[in-house]
Parts: sequence; C-alpha cells; structure tokens
Amino acid sequence: MRLTRKTTLASAAAMLLLGLTACAPAGSAGPGGIDDEGDAPAAATGNGPYNLEIAENPEFEAGTTMAELAEAGTLRVGTKFDQPLFGLQGPDGTPVGFDVAIAALIAAELGIAFEDIEWTEAQSAVRESFLESDQVDIVVATYTINDARKERIDFAGPYFIAGQDIIVQAGNPEGITGPEDLAGLPVCSAEGSTPAATIADEYGAELLAAGGYSDCLDPLRNGQVVAVTTDNVILSGFVDQNPGEFELLGETFTEEPYGIGLPLGDDAFRTFINDVLEEAFEDGTWARLYEETAGTVLEVPEPPMVDRY
Ligand code: GLU
Repeated sequence: MRLTRKTTLASAAAMLLLGLTACAPAGSAGPGGIDDEGDAPAAATGNGPYNLEIAENPEFEAGTTMAELAEAGTLRVGTKFDQPLFGLQGPDGTPVGFDVAIAALIAAELGIAFEDIEWTEAQSAVRESFLESDQVDIVVATYTINDARKERIDFAGPYFIAGQDIIVQAGNPEGITGPEDLAGLPVCSAEGSTPAATIADEYGAELLAAGGYSDCLDPLRNGQVVAVTTDNVILSGFVDQNPGEFELLGETFTEEPYGIGLPLGDDAFRTFINDVLEEAFEDGTWARLYEETAGTVLEVPEPPMVDRY
C-alpha cells in the first residue's frame, strides 16, 4: 500500500511560486554589503538566514557547471520539505534545516545568494530521477551515498553520518527493542529509501511505503503500523516536534553517510563541492551551520571525512 501526498505537493508548488516572485535580483547586496566605491570587501556578508559570505564574481573554468551556474545566478536544489531539522518547509514556503544550510553554502561559493536558490521538494524515491532529468542541479536531502545510487548519479561528501533507527508510540506498547522485533509486523518508511529496503529485506517487516516520513506519523498514531523507521536524526526531529507522542529506540543499526547528489560524471563539479565542504569543516562554518539548525536539538558531531572516490 502506498500513501500519496498530492495536497501537500500542490500547496508546496504554490508556495514555491510565491517564494519566487519575492526574489531579489542576483547580486544585490545584503545587509552590511557592498558600497559603490570599489573599495568593498571581497565578499558581502550577512546574507540570508545562514549569514554566509557570498563569493563575489568567483572565477571558474569556462564550460564547467560552476561557470554555468555562476553565470545563471540561480541554483536549483532538491531537498526535503517535511523533515524537521534537515529540510522543513517554513511558513513562507522556503525550507529550513541543515540540508538547506549546506545547499546555501554551496550556492554562496558559486556567488549565488540565498534568495536566488530555487527549492524543489525531492522525496526519497525521486532524487536520482530529478538529477537525471535535469530538474535540479543538486540534491541535498538526507541522501545516503551508496553504490546502487552511484550507478545513476554522483555524490560529493559525505557531510554528515546518520544511522537507521526506529520510533514507536510513546510508552512502547508493543515492547519493540530493535529491528529484529519487527519481522512480520507493519512498519512505515519512505518509498525508495535505504531504511525501507533494510527493514523489509533484512528484517522481514511488512512495509508500508509512504511518499515521505511525515506521512508515516498518522499510521503510527492510529496503530496501522507499530513503528516508523528511517535515519535517527530525521526521527529525532519528529519526536521533538510532537512532544509526548513518540519514542526513539536510540540504537542505530546501519550507517547512512549523507552526500550531495549531482549529475553522473560531472567530476569537476563534484571536486568543487568536496572542496567547499572540506573548507567548511576546517574553518568552523560546517559546525556553525549544524549548531544553528539540527544542533538546536541534537549534539554537534565531528565533521566526517570527504570521500573523493
Ligand atoms: N538516508 C536514507 C536515504 O537516503 C533515508 C533518508 C531519506 O529517505 O531521505 O534513503
């Protein structure tokens, strides 16, 4: 059985349109930005919700994706719209969270301001196809790097390491202690995700495949499923947003390294994003962005090692 979320998608599209009409022109200086005298600092500061310095007229080799994007002045990003802490659509239609901040960091290094990013909801099952069909330039969406996906797209990163976990109703009425207890029981996860495959294929759960994890919460509330499974950090966001309703088991049983999805074979773009990540790991920007987003609820970890495969 599959759940749909047409209403949410339609309203998301409407909100995205509203957001776009409110865009400022590319290159407009943010607060504390550039004066007209030519003695401006190398970069404007104070731009957007993550306070990132926007690279000014960055130079890229002609013909590269970076040169094309910098020239276009827009970055099209696929992310989640229904996941607190990583990618959650705010009241004005723009998403907020750590994934959103990472996308904004990449945009900033391309000279693209936050308001010039085009956000598209990319649910788990459509991430590869959105890149293959050129609907987005990058996907930053709690996106686990793995070999099967690498046959269709490439990944920069990782920029975070999560692990699969489980939530149950508060009080744990079924007494679930781990994934082994879910064999033969109804469990909700997102279609096309690694946790959905793991819980069904490795642990024999009866999968209720939803479009997004937020669609799993009502089935858990009303007892249609006994558990929801995905990455610990996503589940922590739902527990935090719904006080007293759900309980996280708190023992991860997989490793989910989050990468930035990009079109297959664009090695120069992948190297560029990996460079941006490593610099942010080293200069503290990565930790600051985490603290300001997911870190409001979760502990701030050490940055991972980039895998330049
Ligand atoms: N990280 C896992 C995946 O990429 C689960 C989270 C998600 O579906 O976004 O499939």
